Amino acid sequence: MDHLRDTISDLLEEHGAVVDRDQPDLLETILPDDLARRLGATTHALFAFHPEAAREQKCPLLTPVHPFVQALAQEKLSRGLVRFTRLPARNLNPAGLEDRVRRSLHFAGTRWPHIRGSSPREYLYLRFTFLATYIWAARTQELIEVLIDLSSGWPEDGLIPALDRVHPLSDPAPPLPLAHPVALDQAFSTALARAAEAARVRAEEFAGVMTTRAARETELANSYYDALARELQDKLDRTEPGSEPALRLAERIRAVAREREYRLEILKARYAVRTELDLDSLHLYSLPKLEIQLTAQRKHEHIPFTLTWNPLTSAIDLPHCARCGSQSATVSPTADGLLCPRCASR
Ligand SMILES: [Zn+2]
Repeated sequence: MDHLRDTISDLLEEHGAVVDRDQPDLLETILPDDLARRLGATTHALFAFHPEAAREQKCPLLTPVHPFVQALAQEKLSRGLVRFTRLPARNLNPAGLEDRVRRSLHFAGTRWPHIRGSSPREYLYLRFTFLATYIWAARTQELIEVLIDLSSGWPEDGLIPALDRVHPLSDPAPPLPLAHPVALDQAFSTALARAAEAARVRAEEFAGVMTTRAARETELANSYYDALARELQDKLDRTEPGSEPALRLAERIRAVAREREYRLEILKARYAVRTELDLDSLHLYSLPKLEIQLTAQRKHEHIPFTLTWNPLTSAIDLPHCARCGSQSATVSPTADGLLCPRCASR
């Protein structure tokens, strides 16, 4: 949950709020009046990131889908950071459409679906660029990009290289009807979860390097203090008990033990990895694709569904499972949508 906490704290601070970052499971913040009004919160707001903390403090539990987080995302999205690119409508009438569908997908549990028709539409994609900062032995920064298909709400990161290769039209054709987009805050939640996962994996890589280094340095420190403690103890054993030098030696031994503890604490803190994730920019693309309407027949039931021909990849987009979101070339058309083999077998 740390990424969510850090992202929310950063967003709040960016909008002029004061955030107390010292309570690991809680978010306590003082919001400017107008921001509080827009976010539907009180100016002094308290939220929890763990169910237990929420119960203890009797305050709301924040998750990526909590209305406050979504309102904050909207606030960020409405700040004019979004670039917009409309891509050319090219090759929207591919030859041998039925053949292409047949070659790209396998339909389980139904007869070969019948293509009822096809129509060009504008599909929106929102590209989130997050700046991840890892604070460890060094300070490492990298961009994490997540592309959300706004018609399905699912990430389509594989399209990013193709988007970067296309030159937008200088004189765009009149817009096509728009494929229905999901809510922006839903797209933000999905992108944030995806970026947080990518950042977590990277942070673990750094932590792995750090653990090896920390173990080596801890071992060095321990053997240094072991030798020192042994030497002092030997001296003490040879000194007359209760004498002034013996008392001084005993005090020195205690000081060395405290110093060892302090040194090991510093080592531990130095080798912890902290991650910050900040939404850096947004880029909205409009991509004309061909929507293909099909009907599958399952026993006596007729099941309508749609696929899309993507001129950017010159391929039929692999559909997302309506239940788990995974992409698969084998799909089962059902009344609940297209399902992947795993969900269809349940
Ligand atoms: Zn599935």
